Amino acid sequence: MKITKVEPILVDRYLFVQVHTDEGLVGLGESGAWGFHESAAAAVTKFGEYLVGEDPLRIEHHWQYLYRAFHFRGADIMGALSAIDIALWDLAGQYRDAAVHALLGGAVRERARVYQHVVGTTRQELVDGVKAAKEQGFTAVGHLTPFLDEDRSLPYFSTHAAKIGRAIEAVGAYRDAVGDDVDLCIEIHRRLTPAEAVQLGVGIAEFRPQFLEDPVTPDNFDEMEYVASRVDVPIATGERLTSIWEFAMLLRRSAVQFVRPNVGMVGGITGAKKIAALAEAQHVGVVPHNPLSPVLTAASLQIAAAIPNFALLEYPGRTWHSLLADRPDGAEIVTGQPEYDGHGFLLVDASPGIGVKLRADVTERVPYVPRPVKARLSVDGSVIDQ
Ligand SMILES: [Mg+2]
Repeated sequence: MKITKVEPILVDRYLFVQVHTDEGLVGLGESGAWGFHESAAAAVTKFGEYLVGEDPLRIEHHWQYLYRAFHFRGADIMGALSAIDIALWDLAGQYRDAAVHALLGGAVRERARVYQHVVGTTRQELVDGVKAAKEQGFTAVGHLTPFLDEDRSLPYFSTHAAKIGRAIEAVGAYRDAVGDDVDLCIEIHRRLTPAEAVQLGVGIAEFRPQFLEDPVTPDNFDEMEYVASRVDVPIATGERLTSIWEFAMLLRRSAVQFVRPNVGMVGGITGAKKIAALAEAQHVGVVPHNPLSPVLTAASLQIAAAIPNFALLEYPGRTWHSLLADRPDGAEIVTGQPEYDGHGFLLVDASPGIGVKLRADVTERVPYVPRPVKARLSVDGSVIDQ
């Protein structure tokens, strides 16, 4: 079998890659570098110059060749490499009539626990979202901020006392809304300094969140370690990282209790499996970062099915960045989506490859929506993280 074409495909807010072969099989993957789809698509096309004519089943070899051909990596290049890697695993599964998890050692679980996204621009919307998730059977909610998911065009201001105080109150309100039936995955979205993050983490510990995600900007692992060592809430981080070496440095510092590799960013299924093994050696759980399309959900589910230290899978549904625009349903984009069991789990099935296929006319029906360059400003005009 030989590769005949490597094709980047932009749909809605997603970058997919299809790898075509001379045997008629087509592998499907997705990039996780959602801010830079245009540059990742260009990298996919460049990588395709090497891949056309190659045997798609030499996945590790092609991964090493593409990773080591040049000096330069980063999110968009790794998004491209990851999407290609997922597509090659999808092809390998189809070729051998086996699910990808069967090629990774076989399923260690029949279903994978998921957390539902909850978003809102008011406290009430967030509390209602937590309750609605419970009614739909979910046993965990995430993307859940103790602040608000406000429009980035609104200038930001809060006193320190109000910022920390209201955030602690909010987490208490989420816990009151659902009791202990639903785990709270609290997402800080990088808004705090290390000292602020410790104050908040100490304040919300009594509400027993499953984890505190990205309490500080994840650029400095020593600062993540500072927070992790002072707060009795597990820390989750890793969605911006792109390599096993970065995760190794984070783990060596005990700066993380739940790693969040994005299968579309860390070198695909090849990279995610290795990161999971590093985490396993330190009894750290894996919560794949998965805010994008059903293609990435399907790829992440293969990892969840095959590793012993899987903890939770992000399950965005239609909510991701839905505050400003309605989103197409996953079924408008792909066939063969993993099935939700109604009780907080996605079912692991034996469909060959990753199990999903792009609908044939998807690029005409669901056009690409480029993301604008937009950061939030403080009332004083300076840029803040949100
Ligand atoms: Mg996050």
